[in-house]
Amino acid sequence: MDKARRTRSNQRLRKVLDDRPRRIQMLLERGFIKNASEIPDDAIPIDPEFSTKAGLCIPAVCYQDIEFVCTDCGRPDFWSAGSQQHYFEISKASPYKQPKRCYDCRQQELARKTQAGAGSRHKSS
Ligand SMILES: [Zn+2]
Repeated sequence: MDKARRTRSNQRLRKVLDDRPRRIQMLLERGFIKNASEIPDDAIPIDPEFSTKAGLCIPAVCYQDIEFVCTDCGRPDFWSAGSQQHYFEISKASPYKQPKRCYDCRQQELARKTQAGAGSRHKSS
């Protein structure tokens, strides 16, 4: 597991932590959970207010690091709780999306797409 990435992710996590008691309180009031201890310490509780508003159906009460294997290079990677929170609540992405590629492969894919885009723009000009 990449330590630098864990640290970056945890820095983002800290910003959300201030909101943690409020989120847990809402989850309790709305019956999502019966006890605050259902949310592990390293997880980010979902914001039920946001989820309802956005019409999302997030199949869990909290975000936790998800480990997966990259479909391109086969290396194990993880999707941090902080990234998921950002992805679902700030980017408002589909709750059914799951990561497929590791960080390196995503960067490569992005560079490939950017290059392709720049190439086609160059051709048309
Ligand atoms: Zn990869």
